[in-house]
Amino acid sequence: MSDDTAEFTFELRVCQWAEREWPPSGSDAVGDTTAVIARQLGTKRRRWDTIVVEADPDALRRRARFGPERLDSDLLHVVRNAPAEWAWYRDALPDPGYPWQYVREAVHRASDRGIVDTRKDGRGRIELRRKWPYPDWVERLVAVENKPDLDASAARDLAPQLQRDVALALADEVWVATTATGATVEPALLEDVPVEAGVLLVDDDAAEVAWHPRALAVDDPGTIIAERPTGTGHDASAARFEYADPEWKADKRIEIAERAYERGWRSYVDTMRPDCRHFEVRSADGDVLPWCAAKGRHPTAAECSGSCPQWEPEPPAWRQRGWPVTGGPGKAIKRLLDRQRRRQRPGREK
Ligand code: SF4
Repeated sequence: MSDDTAEFTFELRVCQWAEREWPPSGSDAVGDTTAVIARQLGTKRRRWDTIVVEADPDALRRRARFGPERLDSDLLHVVRNAPAEWAWYRDALPDPGYPWQYVREAVHRASDRGIVDTRKDGRGRIELRRKWPYPDWVERLVAVENKPDLDASAARDLAPQLQRDVALALADEVWVATTATGATVEPALLEDVPVEAGVLLVDDDAAEVAWHPRALAVDDPGTIIAERPTGTGHDASAARFEYADPEWKADKRIEIAERAYERGWRSYVDTMRPDCRHFEVRSADGDVLPWCAAKGRHPTAAECSGSCPQWEPEPPAWRQRGWPVTGGPGKAIKRLLDRQRRRQRPGREK
């Protein structure tokens, strides 16, 4: 199995396990929460392998009223500030710090999505009124970096990224997930991993905590390590830092959570080729992972694409045997994964 294949499959397994079992025992998770899991999300500068959004179950159900698509920053500005009674949008919404024209467009988009009410007053000005308060559904945001083979050199490579995560404290916790080998984790191996990061040992259907993470100060200002010296003898440059204020962090956290809510972790199928005759899904613990019959293994999202030399279309006959209206097995697989994604979103089960 190539490294890419191993990492992709490992990542899906971590997502699958987290959806079923999160939080790990001994975690700081707040009371009874529902875990919303997504892959490959973050900020412009940093993308995490796995994101766990710990959500208040009631608030998550109320979030479902705003629809399955994410609310981007402009829409969040509208729905979080929309008044209970009719008001001109420029009176009702705080100055966004960018031209009002963009706010007006966002008000129209929110209205088109049916998540606020709008009307024109006698002077032709746009008024808005909220339909529901936007719920405070995100309890905690947890970032997981997946390294199936955490050898000493992988740990060294990972360390600067984790140090950046700890300095910024955008997520409440940062973890490294690695394959359980059955052996005790060598302390030397973890030397380079910041002590604030947790370590999770994952095997096929379970995971165990080898090191508990420290809760990061998400409400405090964070530090963005924009540049740092390489540490080699020839690099005498100074590290460069930027400041991240708590409001910026709070906004980013909810934007990431909204994207996680929309995408979930099964969205890999949107970029893969379930319409290929070799594409299958294999069940593991009630969930499914992609399988390529031509290669005899789990394919990565990158290789299972339009440029795959082994791609072959589903034979037309497959579409005629009981699939005439709704498409062939490829479409059925997409529907299955979509159903599973919806099952994890209270209020969106149908
Ligand atoms: S042959 Fe290529 S496109 Fe088809 S399932 Fe395998 S990896 Fe995907």
